[in-house]
Amino acid sequence: MKREYDVLVVGGGPGGAFAAKTFAEKGYSVLLTEKRPAIGAPVRCAEGVGKALMHEFFRPEDHWIAAEIEKANIIAPDGFKMELEPEKAGAEVGYVLHRKIFDRDLVWMAAGAGAEIQVKTRAVSPIMEDGAVKGALLNQGGAVHEVRASLTIAADGVESKFSRWCGVDTTVPLREIETCAQYLMTGIDIDPH
Ligand SMILES: Cc1cc2nc3c(=O)[nH]c(=O)nc-3n(C[C@H](O)[C@H](O)[C@H](O)COP(=O)(O)OP(=O)(O)OC[C@H]3O[C@@H](n4cnc5c(N)ncnc54)[C@H](O)[C@@H]3O)c2cc1C
Repeated sequence: MKREYDVLVVGGGPGGAFAAKTFAEKGYSVLLTEKRPAIGAPVRCAEGVGKALMHEFFRPEDHWIAAEIEKANIIAPDGFKMELEPEKAGAEVGYVLHRKIFDRDLVWMAAGAGAEIQVKTRAVSPIMEDGAVKGALLNQGGAVHEVRASLTIAADGVESKFSRWCGVDTTVPLREIETCAQYLMTGIDIDPH
């Protein structure tokens, strides 16, 4: 890990990986830093994605796709059921991804474009100078490194703590948040599409 890059990306999810890939492809020096030991795990996602959205960014690889979705059934706790057929569903029709594989491939693409990837490396604080973000302090195995960058991208999730540390209010209003319990189930009889 160097001490200075053009672009420092905090977070190795799809947002961070795509940003790192984009800047590396343009020839900038890029460091992507991910706090977890592995990219894409644990999966915190139901893995459904609209086709139109996906195609805006990629031609999906076959091994990213667990299933193609042709319609969606929404079933309320009181049993009320709503079926979204393709013509009604629009963007609801899409893919079930293997997020673990998808996330890893995106980071591989960033690395292939020349970005440096560091896992088990947590951004613990921005470097702030004259009200501007000039990089971050990164904790890697207990040692804290100062890494400077012309551009720092907080891709550490929807409620980005890193952005908050920089003074940006990233609180998502409760009305825009859906709360759920997610189970991974096997051996069930279900229409795969
Ligand atoms: C239960 C659940 C179900 C979901 N279902 C769907 C779905 O079906 N379809 C869909 O499209 N979306 C779904 N989502 C949302 C989707 O997962 C997110 O929108 C997407 O992962 C956001 O990508 P991201 O790259 O912005 O952030 P994330 O994927 O959250 O990646 C952020 C990364 O930053 C890392 N990080 C955090 N802090 C630091 C730090 N200080 N230093 C270094 N690294 C750090 C994290 O470890 C993480 O790897 C779901 C989310 C949840 C929680």
